[in-house]
Amino acid sequence: MSLATFIGKLLLFGGAMVFGWYAGRRWRIGGTPQPRPASREYLAGLNFLVQDQPDRALEAFLRAVEVDRDTVEMHLALGALYRRRGEIDRAIRVHQNLISREDLDARQREQATYALAQDYLKAGLHDRAEKLLQPLSGGGAFRLAALKDLIRLYELQRDWLRAMETGQAMSRIGRPASESAQAHYACELATAALAGGSVDTAREHLRLAKNETKRFPRAALLRADIAILDGEAVEAMDWLRRVLEQQPDLAPEVLPRVRRAFAAGAAPAMVLDWLLKATPELRAHVVQATLLGDFLDMPMLRELTRTHLLERPGIGEVLRASLPTGEGLDDARLDAVCAALRKQARRSVRYRCQQCGFSSTAFFWQCPGCKTWDGLKPLTEIDVLLPAPR
Ligand SMILES: [Zn+2]
Repeated sequence: MSLATFIGKLLLFGGAMVFGWYAGRRWRIGGTPQPRPASREYLAGLNFLVQDQPDRALEAFLRAVEVDRDTVEMHLALGALYRRRGEIDRAIRVHQNLISREDLDARQREQATYALAQDYLKAGLHDRAEKLLQPLSGGGAFRLAALKDLIRLYELQRDWLRAMETGQAMSRIGRPASESAQAHYACELATAALAGGSVDTAREHLRLAKNETKRFPRAALLRADIAILDGEAVEAMDWLRRVLEQQPDLAPEVLPRVRRAFAAGAAPAMVLDWLLKATPELRAHVVQATLLGDFLDMPMLRELTRTHLLERPGIGEVLRASLPTGEGLDDARLDAVCAALRKQARRSVRYRCQQCGFSSTAFFWQCPGCKTWDGLKPLTEIDVLLPAPR
């Protein structure tokens, strides 16, 4: 096997990546191979890793360290392997010992520090990990990796301001973080500001969100909240309409705000006109959200639901055939049909993450399972209401 193939195979193992660089360096120093006494065991360890035999690799690395206690790469290899096997305490001890040594060069110190930060992250020791990652994120070979780890860590801690600042630091080095994640951080901050009664601060955060991405339904929902607080019902309805147009499946988030916009003086007739002219998909999402959230007390949504049910192929035909001659779907019948459909819908979970399959009855902007933003999508619970998938 050529060296290039060997290294290529090695890179397949995420946990083994650190060794590749050292192995390459070891063999190329001075242009001629210069194996040290321990390298036979070390190479045997690498081979076992490539063959996905971590137990035998560990034995080989332990033997290698016995022979050559000073070699930094042996300890890095050993530490990474302990971490990979879930023996975090051991990994931490190995990396801490390494860092305490005075003979490390700058690169080795960075590498050992980053390795220890990974141990702390895996052990859930976030404060310690942060302390190590902060200086690494300021420059050097591990800068980008440290910034990415810090973002994940701040997300876990729900420290949205720091997550946003870290994203901005990534942009400054030409490796911008996800635009939508940055906008979500701004929206999280705006939500907290609104909850604390600081409307102006919320507006500031939303301006930041807009800088990140123009069409962002979550920010439009928050702008609707602010408009309602200001008594600007027409403006609020305008924002809510944009949300529905951009992302019809957010109807369950929109309708409670529609109710508040009406209480603040919005005109129902205008909204009904608009909804009746909307696409079948959008109307279906609104009707489904009306049923699930029980918004039938709003006359506009009640009328929309009535029309939609009667017009839908399938359920509409069944309903029309079951009505006494000359009679329509009156309020009592509509309520009974809706109650039956709601009962059917509530038996199932409402949202599922498209990335990891996490499911829940509550809606989350960020999936609690895999931390993907906008990963959760509503399931088509009331099939009879929605157009068949094309
Ligand atoms: Zn997920």
